[in-house]
Amino acid sequence: MNLEDYRGIWVYIEVKDGNVAPVSLELLGAGRMLADKRGTELGGVLIGSGVKPLATTLFAYGADVVYVYDDPIFEHYRTEPYMRALLDCCHKHKPEVLLYGATPTGKDLASAIATDLPTGLTADTTILDIEEDTGLLLASRPAFGGNIMATILCKKYRPQMATVRPKVMKALSPDPARTGRIIEEQIELHEEQMRTKVLEVVRETVKKARIDEADIVVAGGKGMGSKEGFQLIHELADVLGAAVGASRDVVEAGWIDHHHQVGQTGVTVTPKIYFAIGISGAIQHIVGMQNSELIIAINKDPNAPIFQACHYGIVGDALEIVPLLIKRLKEELP
Ligand code: FAD
Repeated sequence: MNLEDYRGIWVYIEVKDGNVAPVSLELLGAGRMLADKRGTELGGVLIGSGVKPLATTLFAYGADVVYVYDDPIFEHYRTEPYMRALLDCCHKHKPEVLLYGATPTGKDLASAIATDLPTGLTADTTILDIEEDTGLLLASRPAFGGNIMATILCKKYRPQMATVRPKVMKALSPDPARTGRIIEEQIELHEEQMRTKVLEVVRETVKKARIDEADIVVAGGKGMGSKEGFQLIHELADVLGAAVGASRDVVEAGWIDHHHQVGQTGVTVTPKIYFAIGISGAIQHIVGMQNSELIIAINKDPNAPIFQACHYGIVGDALEIVPLLIKRLKEELP
């Protein structure tokens, strides 16, 4: 493999309900930085049915070139046709870096591509950088239970691939005046040859707590003492119009379900305000909330690691402080 043949930073563009998924816009932001550093182009690979108009959005968010595979066969995500299209694009245009969101779709597609192309894949990356001269992608992620950050390199093969967690990278502010090149691609795929068919799409009716989209997250830990004590977290969240987050130990204790877990094996959140109440601040929790704009911690142990990660810290008993906070906020808030 001649590494010099491979140029350009690419992002696989995920489309959800007819819109570009937020994680893809975030990756264009990160990809722009990598492409500028490397002095190369930023490309987006857009696969779907009726998706071509979305290219304008991708240019506004930083892409120089968009490769479009627009065909009814791509109406719903399926591994096989999407993989075939993306492989086709890689073979034709040879990117040096290919990034995917670490979403169910991104993870599925990235691992399928990695089985076919002779290259590696770094999963769940949280920091991206590139060496300007060699073009080596520096993909960092928590390793060994989150105790260290490992930087993973793919020295001999291209493209260098990584999945990146949603909400970790920052999208650029869109510039509607930005334009770029659209390259329309086609690949011969026949529905009757596809091994999977989408018969029906059933939307989830259970309302999931979207803690990753909330402006305020009130998160509680084992320090709340019991499921009853954890009710105070719900009450404080209600007063503030916030979403409820939790540490893994709370989820494992059955006080709340896994959708609320913040951290390495849960959700990554970046709200305007994050309350960490009765949470010790283990590294596996910190990696999921450290980019919040304002972090307020309440813990009765003055040496709890959470106090190293917060902007404001209150040392004291949460079971006493939280009811006072709720009372005061009810008086103050309209
Ligand atoms: P504890 O560690 O028990 O801490 C409770 C805290 O509450 C203490 O600091 C204590 O001082 C304080 N406290 C006690 N009583 C009070 C009171 N009355 N008022 C105020 N403070 C009080 N954890 C996550 O959260 N998210 C993850 O995604 C995650 N992934 C993991 C992945 C791996 C591979 C591993 C090994 C671990 C993972 N963990 C994760 C677990 C993590 O290491 C910690 O065990 C967990 O975060 C601790 O939860 P906690 O802070 O609620 O509980």
